[in-house]
Formats: sequence, C-alpha cells, structure tokens
Amino acid sequence: SSETSSVDITLPPDLFQPQRANSAGLDLTDENVLRELGVTLPTLPVDPDSGGETIRNPADLRDIVGHVALASSNQADAAIAAAVSAFPSWCVTLPAKRAEILFRASDLLEAETPRLISLIVREAGKSLANAVGEIREAVDFLRYYGAQVRDDFDNTIHKPLGPVVCISPWNFPLAIFVGQISAALAAGNTVLAKPAEETPLIAREAVKLLLAAGIPPAVIQFVPGSGETGASLVADTRIRGVVFTGSTDVARSIRGQLARRLNPDDAPVPLIAETGGQNALIVDSSALAEQVVADVLASAFDSAGQRCSALRLLCLQEECADHVLTMLKGAMSELRTGRPDGLNTDVGPLISAEAQAGILYYIEAMRHRGHRVHQAPVSDECGNGYFVPPTLIEIDNVFSLEREVFGPVLHVLRFERDAMLPVIDAVNATGYALTFGIHTRIDAMAAEATSRSHAGNVYVNRSLIGAVVGVQPFGGRGLSGTGPKAGGALYLRRLLRVAPPLKAE
Ligand code: GLU
Repeated sequence: SSETSSVDITLPPDLFQPQRANSAGLDLTDENVLRELGVTLPTLPVDPDSGGETIRNPADLRDIVGHVALASSNQADAAIAAAVSAFPSWCVTLPAKRAEILFRASDLLEAETPRLISLIVREAGKSLANAVGEIREAVDFLRYYGAQVRDDFDNTIHKPLGPVVCISPWNFPLAIFVGQISAALAAGNTVLAKPAEETPLIAREAVKLLLAAGIPPAVIQFVPGSGETGASLVADTRIRGVVFTGSTDVARSIRGQLARRLNPDDAPVPLIAETGGQNALIVDSSALAEQVVADVLASAFDSAGQRCSALRLLCLQEECADHVLTMLKGAMSELRTGRPDGLNTDVGPLISAEAQAGILYYIEAMRHRGHRVHQAPVSDECGNGYFVPPTLIEIDNVFSLEREVFGPVLHVLRFERDAMLPVIDAVNATGYALTFGIHTRIDAMAAEATSRSHAGNVYVNRSLIGAVVGVQPFGGRGLSGTGPKAGGALYLRRLLRVAPPLKAE
C-alpha cells in the first residue's frame, strides 16, 4: 500500500538497490554458503564489561552471552547534555558528508556479518536465516536514508530538530535499532540510543561500528537501560523528537508525555511510533493451497511469531478450510523448533521467561474455554530455553482476539463465502492496522479486500512478513502506529522541520 500524505523528499528510483533483505536470497541450509560467510557458531568472544546485567541466550540459559553496564540516571542526564552540545556542529555537517558516513557504516556492518550473526543468534534467539536478514535490513536502512539525504536534502529548508531519542525493540535488535538511528542521524539530529533491555549487546556493536565509520563520538549517545530509562529520556524537555518501536501502551504514554510540551518553534514534539498488530490473512477457495501453507508458516511462525508483522488470524473460506487446515497441520508437524544455531531449525525460542509463561498461559486459557488447539512437536533440547511450540487455535469470531499474542500462536477462523467483507470489517474494528493479506486468484476479490482493509501494509498472495526497505515501506495506523512508514520516502520528513524558503519581494 502507499504512503498517504504528500512527499517532500523524493528518491529517484535507480539510486537505491535494496538487497531483498530477509527471506530471499541466501540458502542457509547450504554449508558452503555458511563457510563463505565465515559463520562459526557459537563461539563469539564477548568483552565482559565489569558488573551490570548478565545477558543469557534465550535458547540455552547456561550460555552467558555477555554483560552490559546499564546507564544510571546521572549518566542518562549527561548523555542528553552531550547530545545537546554536539548538535550545533553536527546539524551543519553537509548532508553529503553525513550520507558518506552512513554508507561507510553500512560497509562496516556488512564486513562484520559473521560476528553479528553469532551475536544476534545468541542474544536474541533468532535463526541463522533471520540473523542474516536482519543484517541486510540494517545495511539497507543505512544506504536508503543515506541516499535520501545525499540526493534530496536541501540544507537551506530542511532543518534538523536537535537531540532525538530512539527506543528500539528486542525483536529486531539490529535492523530497527540501526534503522531508527540512521534516519535521525541522516536528518542531522543527534541521537540518544536506548536499546531494548533484552538486547543491548548487539546494539552496542552497532554503535561501535557507527562510530568507527566516522559519526562524531558525542553525536550518538548509547544509553542502555530499562523502560524507566527510556521514560526519563522522553520526559526531558531538551529532547526534540522521539522514535519508538514497541508496545501500544508505551507508545500511548509517550504520546501523552509529548503532548504536554512544544519544541522551541512552537511545533509539537514529533513522535514516530511503530507498535503491534492483529494481522489477518484472508484465503478464498480459489487460492493455491500449497502457496497459502508456505506463506502461513512463514507469516505465523518465523521468528517464533515475534514480529509486529506476524500473522495472528488466518481466515479460511469454508469451501477450502478443511483442505488447507489438513495441509497446514501436516506442514506444522514438520517444523523444527529448537536451538537457533542449528542449520535446520525453523522456530527458535521466545525472548524471555515472562514471554514464554504468558503465551503458555494464553494457550491453556483458550483450551480451557473450549477452543480446539493443535500444536507442533518440540525437540528434546528445548528444555534449556524459552520455547513454545507452534500452535494453532480455532476460533469462531474475531472478538476472541482480546490482545496481541506476541508468539508462535495462530488463530484460525472459518467464514462463509459471502462473509468476507464483514470479517475484514471486524478485523478493522480491532483498531489495529499493521499488516493484512489476501490469497486469491480472483483479481476482483484481491481488489475488494485490499481496499477494505485499514492496514498499513497490505499484501496479495505473499507472506505478511519481511517488508523490504525502500520497496515496501513498513508501518501501520491506529493502534499499530503513527506512521510515517520505516524505509519509506516520508520517514525523514518527521525527523526534521521545513523552514519556508525566503521569498524574494
Ligand atoms: N519489518 C518487519 C517485517 O516486515 C517487522 C518489524 C517488526 O516486527 O517490528 O516483518
């Protein structure tokens, strides 16, 4: 789907060649490919900072990935002061120079691929394929925003805001962390980078690479900590903008905070929030069942369902429901849930004990309420980590979806032939509007469904995950986020202000 408001910064189509980050491309089941990448697992040496939080591998709690010293409130305060004093010189650095540094950072990131894969797998529990996808997406963000600012940025009218807080999630500990920061830096802002408390080690590596690429040290301030640290950064009136990816509740409280103040130019403090979804896929009886099953498995269970874009509700037209469900259950039993450093692992662990307990509790509650539940097997090695088997829960109406279930849980709903539009309306009525898809071979159905959905990213005959930077700008509406979409033409626009050009009388 497309951006909604007018475009101030346009990107000539040939400037940016996305790498088709995520799923496409490398065959990671091929050991030669891995050898070429230099992947050695799981022997990453970590420099143990003295004290601080201990980060454990969510797939194997015996594995200590590293330690991180959390920022104290005095340190967070000093970081803001430093970002304030670094702003005047960074904001006048020529856009082309800023772009050059971001391009250099993208090359460094790419060169560090093997080490970063290892760290992403161990700290975030991501599969090898997902780790590679993340690195490529981070590289894409650096190059995309770099190209935008190099070619379409007019220093005389596009003015940076000042220090911007970037608060990123653990589910894309590199791609979203780097995406947020690179956009803020490209626009000429200084950055307070607050990574998710679960994944500070990958974030720290990314910051090191950005500094090595030539970002002046004070321009990017690394502030690892909990949600409280993030809240204190947002609350500080020296902050001129906030970029946040995480829960709808936290986004709402940030919006509340920012609504109480204005920036020096009397404009509201800009916020970009990307939050959750109740993402649905409609399948009609003309769809190709094999393709449906492949896309459903990827959409619902890739990254153990821990993507904002992940499929939560599969809606099957009655005429094809039994057939598709039989195939889907068969395919689920072939999924391998286990340690993500294994070459043949499909589904890794959840991020934490709380996440695992919450999902297991939810599944039991649904079973208790009489819903039919089908689960894939898990391997024996899963005892040492936070695993949940891919799970399918049959429901009768969309209202059974009370909240976003952020894990490998797929709800299935059957609908009668003429009830497709009411189902889409019910999904819209959840208030979430992030991803949506339809599988059909009837063009009119695809057109009707896609125009009816409120979702930010609408896909036809494709999985719901793996939006490609610059090609499928990613972001939602309503409870799913503020826009503008990440990796899209309007994103930088929110991170700067436009000074009207002087009029010649
Ligand atoms: N951009 C990712 C995708 O398309 C999802 C990002 C998220 O989970 O926050 O799958």
